[in-house]
Amino acid sequence: MDIEKAISLNEKQLLTATSEIIKIRSVKDIPKEGMPFGEGPAKALNYALDLAKSFGLETRNLDNYAGWAQWGDGDEMIGILVHLDVVPEGSGWTFPPYAGEIHNGRIYGRGAIDDKGPAMAALFALKSLKDAGIKFNRRVRVIFGTDEESGSECMKYYLKHDEAPTMGFSPDANYPIINGEKGMLTFTFTISFNGEKDTGAVLLSLKGGHRPNMVPDYAEARVAGNIDEISAQVKSAQSSVPGNFEVEQKTNEIVIKSYGTSAHASTPEKGKNACMLLAKLLGNVKFAKAYNDFIGFLNKKIGLDTTGKGLGVDFKDDISGPLTLNVGIIECDENKAEVTINIRYPIKYRGEQVIEHIRENTPEAFRIEKVSDMKPHYVPEDNLIIQKLKYAYEKVTGEKAYCFSIGGGTYARLFKNCVAFGPNFPGKPELAHETDEYIEVEDLFKNLRIYTYVLCELVR
Ligand SMILES: [Zn+2]
Repeated sequence: MDIEKAISLNEKQLLTATSEIIKIRSVKDIPKEGMPFGEGPAKALNYALDLAKSFGLETRNLDNYAGWAQWGDGDEMIGILVHLDVVPEGSGWTFPPYAGEIHNGRIYGRGAIDDKGPAMAALFALKSLKDAGIKFNRRVRVIFGTDEESGSECMKYYLKHDEAPTMGFSPDANYPIINGEKGMLTFTFTISFNGEKDTGAVLLSLKGGHRPNMVPDYAEARVAGNIDEISAQVKSAQSSVPGNFEVEQKTNEIVIKSYGTSAHASTPEKGKNACMLLAKLLGNVKFAKAYNDFIGFLNKKIGLDTTGKGLGVDFKDDISGPLTLNVGIIECDENKAEVTINIRYPIKYRGEQVIEHIRENTPEAFRIEKVSDMKPHYVPEDNLIIQKLKYAYEKVTGEKAYCFSIGGGTYARLFKNCVAFGPNFPGKPELAHETDEYIEVEDLFKNLRIYTYVLCELVR
């Protein structure tokens, strides 16, 4: 059968399958026996594998961590890396988040574009080629993960227990082709307030943020001392700090609430960091030396800047752009503070280099701890996989394909010769993790076509 015909015959079934799998609420939950990420993710995985089996594809379930559907022969294997877990739905939906309803040419639901729609499109691309009777000289494997949103333990498990693809792509970001992902560095500054605490205000607590990879949208501080003086210092500074604050005067302390705007840590400049805005405001309070050193450090070395300039790490390169820095969490009481930082550093740098520079620019009292480093990922443009992705993208969309880099992380970074590819087309809104997430039916079909042509090129 002609490939175009095989694709068209599969469109309706793809639509149904996408709706059906959206109905499974595959949010990570407490583990159950044989279900390491809870019931939902395991159910979604089994739905996909059963569907693949019904197409006559070979399948494997790796203990409900991950699974795959495969077709073809050959030593080399092309991997399409997708995930079936979703983030919680949140509130305020126009259409039910777990119904897979179609309205105005869009399938609505949590996971529609991230990443269930693309996962189903990948599976149907494989089916379309099989239906068309194409001979496979390489195997194609759609690899389903179930823990992408909370640490990708699924793919780490897969790599420990199964074969790594020769090359592949992950439809879990944007078109055209993302061949570079910045390095990711997470660490904490830890300080004990051992210095003088008697003359000046006392910082009872400063808290904000939940995750290193998000810009905190809320922070709160409690300050004790001469309440009237502190209150006056805060109020006179409020107009010069670009934040949104609420100040509450109690009998023995002042509580300051800071409201910011959340954003992903890979683009911290798009958010307003509630912690750092609050630190800036607190910079006007006359604290005892122990606290003053801490607040001073935050403002002088980081402040509202997101490029790492104050810490001497405002690196950039020509392929992936500037380093970004996000203060993700601050946890501080009267005695100690812990500040969790997430940095995305350019591809041409090394994590050790970044840490070394930070250490040089940090007073000794601030210990750098809990360092975790994920190396940058980069696939050169002359790589075979990129050539084929470019071909298929241009053939189906009529648009020019090009490569770019991002600060975020996809499954692609865990595999050699793998890049992120789609599903979101340039100019379309970013709907992953948003209320009213959807995928346009037409875009779902376009994804199916693109993947089918990519695979067709790769298996020849
Ligand atoms: Zn995703």
